Amino acid sequence: MRSDTDAHHSGSRRSTGRSSARFGRQAVHIPSDAGVDATALTTALVAAAEAHGATVRYGTAVTSLHLSGERVAGVLTATGPHPAATVVLTAGTDVPALCGPLPVDLPVASSPAALARITAPPGLVRTIVANPEFEVREVRDGDLVLTLPHVDGPPALRERAAHDALGRLRTAFRGGDQCRLVGHGTGWRPVPAHGPLIGYATHDRSVYVAVMHSGVTLAPTVGRLVADELVTGRPARELLRCRPRVR
Ligand SMILES: Cc1cc2nc3c(=O)[nH]c(=O)nc-3n(C[C@H](O)[C@H](O)[C@H](O)COP(=O)(O)OP(=O)(O)OC[C@H]3O[C@@H](n4cnc5c(N)ncnc54)[C@H](O)[C@@H]3O)c2cc1C
Repeated sequence: MRSDTDAHHSGSRRSTGRSSARFGRQAVHIPSDAGVDATALTTALVAAAEAHGATVRYGTAVTSLHLSGERVAGVLTATGPHPAATVVLTAGTDVPALCGPLPVDLPVASSPAALARITAPPGLVRTIVANPEFEVREVRDGDLVLTLPHVDGPPALRERAAHDALGRLRTAFRGGDQCRLVGHGTGWRPVPAHGPLIGYATHDRSVYVAVMHSGVTLAPTVGRLVADELVTGRPARELLRCRPRVR
């Protein structure tokens, strides 16, 4: 831990005046911390999957599992059925409802989280800056992602919260007055009650689920382990405590 007059977590944090009075005079710099733009990363992964031969059906919501007797034979969508030997469900907060007909326990809460997208002078925020009032990161040169408090209420209240957060950001950084709000929104995070739920949701292995928090951080490791389990049929030791309880 160093004083912010010599450390400057991002190198751009004000060391004098109002911001240091509000945020204190110390900062912790963690060089190994890193962040990604989850939307951009997901888009890149989907494109890579398509390049490897995967077919992606955009805008095709799964309405239910396709039950054939006791067995799940695929999924049903508005455009018709899609057969599958194993259905892999990664539908976030929708996983419990889709698995409703199955004898499996999937206690998953939905937790709201709001983000704003902001343009800023490139380098204004370097890496991630977190303090009791906000967390902000630069996801690419000049593009910031800023956490917002979740507001339950009409759009005008959420708009107000986004502008208030922008105001706090502007006050905290030299050059912050050039920050502009591009947009904001709320997402629903799937939060399993007892940790990640990863594995088969039926005894006959026709449905496999993967739902966890924090999904982005865990995704690289879990994705590799899940792919390995599905392809080889060998259970991954690391996932043994994550299995859904199949009745
Ligand atoms: C504002 C915010 C900030 C976050 N920050 C972080 C962070 O800093 N670090 C971190 O690790 N995690 C973070 N998270 C949590 C992280 O985003 C989630 O853990 C992660 O997105 C869960 O991934 P998932 O693929 O399981 O579910 P989701 O990302 O929810 O994806 C589910 C997908 O399934 C689709 N789907 C749902 N139902 C159906 C259906 N019936 N048919 C077809 N498709 C369907 C949805 O459209 C969606 O594309 C954050 C979340 C939010 C909202």
